[in-house]
Amino acid sequence: MSKDDYVLYCPKCNGEKRPDWVIGTRSYSAQRLDVPYFACGGCRLICIDRTVLRQAISSWRRDGLVSKNTPSHKQLYKEMLDVVNKVVDMYCQTAGYKRCRFRKANS
Ligand SMILES: [Zn+2]
Repeated sequence: MSKDDYVLYCPKCNGEKRPDWVIGTRSYSAQRLDVPYFACGGCRLICIDRTVLRQAISSWRRDGLVSKNTPSHKQLYKEMLDVVNKVVDMYCQTAGYKRCRFRKANS
């Protein structure tokens, strides 16, 4: 699955949204790790999709972006969730965004 395959829909305007990315580089990776979240600027809604986050982490391993010394998927997930949560909190506090769940299919 490539980055371009991650698509969710804003629950308010039904707009097709591709992720924005936070840089989640860690000591065990020389590469930059992009951590996905979804935002709709028009509706001021923002979403961390756990499934997409897990898929992104799996793809780092598959693509060799993280070394063999990397912590478990669970640990990595926890750390990256932390990273992206901070960014989303910042958006909510400073730009009036609200957290909500974006939809998988446009219906
Ligand atoms: Zn929207």
